[in-house]
Amino acid sequence: MYGRYGNDQLGNALLILYLVLAVLHLLTRWHILSVFLLADAVWMLFRCFSRNIPARRRENEAFLRIWRKITGFFTLTYNRLRDCRTHVYHKCPHCRATLRLPRRRGEHTVRCPRCGDSFSMKVHFGKE
Ligand SMILES: [Zn+2]
Repeated sequence: MYGRYGNDQLGNALLILYLVLAVLHLLTRWHILSVFLLADAVWMLFRCFSRNIPARRRENEAFLRIWRKITGFFTLTYNRLRDCRTHVYHKCPHCRATLRLPRRRGEHTVRCPRCGDSFSMKVHFGKE
């Protein structure tokens, strides 16, 4: 394996996708799935034995950026539901950072801890 790229997070994701597709293929017998299985296996092996290491690293970094966005969305949604009685989540209009603020009814001036800008917002439900 000297000089070859080997495995990374995208490789692991392709392997998990392969296993999921294989089980689905066994259960459903859909022929179209065998095309995806072959494509997934070819891509996985190509990446593993590739000598173009910088290109494979870039692919992995692009994959990780997308993966973090997906997991970040689910984490934020879970936290919003968990805290919906006590906190509000609001985006800073200047830097787009998501802020977690105590839920108090009325109009408030908020200072963003990331960019330092202030903005006003209304909370419609909650304690006075
Ligand atoms: Zn901000």
